[in-house]
Amino acid sequence: MLWKSRSKSDNHSKDPGTSDFYSRLKDDIPVMRKQGVPPEKDPSSFSRFYCDLCNDSFPLSELKQCTLCGRWACSSCWTSEYYLCNSCNGILKLHMLPRQEGGRK
Ligand SMILES: [Zn+2]
Ligand SMILES: [Zn+2]
Repeated sequence: MLWKSRSKSDNHSKDPGTSDFYSRLKDDIPVMRKQGVPPEKDPSSFSRFYCDLCNDSFPLSELKQCTLCGRWACSSCWTSEYYLCNSCNGILKLHMLPRQEGGRK
């Protein structure tokens, strides 16, 4: 097991104080993979795994599991600001837009 030297600089969570926000967000995001389930292994290469978003293969150390959908994302498919994959980040951004009243289904 390699020691990962991760910076802790991205650990300041700017929680807006709305857990309701996240529960609404989770309603919109299908879980593709359970938390802790490893990424798809690249059969043509040792110790490389697929990014669930762009389907390129990367070393496991470069993939992160999204906390919402559970997909594994490489650094270019990852939004470190919110610790989400780019796909969930897009949905997050939609939720952050001012909501129009009466449009809820
Ligand atoms: Zn990717
Ligand atoms: Zn995601």
